[in-house]
Amino acid sequence: MTMKFECKKCRKEHEMSCAELDWELVDDADPDREMGPESHYTASWESFCDNCGNNMTIEFSCWEYPQGVIEVEDDPNTQGIKLLPDEETCCINVESEEENNEEEPF
Ligand SMILES: [Zn+2]
Repeated sequence: MTMKFECKKCRKEHEMSCAELDWELVDDADPDREMGPESHYTASWESFCDNCGNNMTIEFSCWEYPQGVIEVEDDPNTQGIKLLPDEETCCINVESEEENNEEEPF
């Protein structure tokens, strides 16, 4: 999946691929919730606009709770960027891991 946005300074449209992101598990989740542990993941992306040199950063956050259910933060922290309306934001892909588990040979 790719995400499109504008440079806040010059309005040039950019895009980034969610696959570029390196997700990290943040250790601030509550481990004692009813339906099991809650996991919080973040990933940050940084680049410079090739048109005006503006520094652009995005910080994504998403949560997994209960396990297998991912909730994305709709409004990621950005700097130097104007997000386009109705644009989906990136989220960690835990589903692919589960699919792999199902492909056990019989
Ligand atoms: Zn720019």
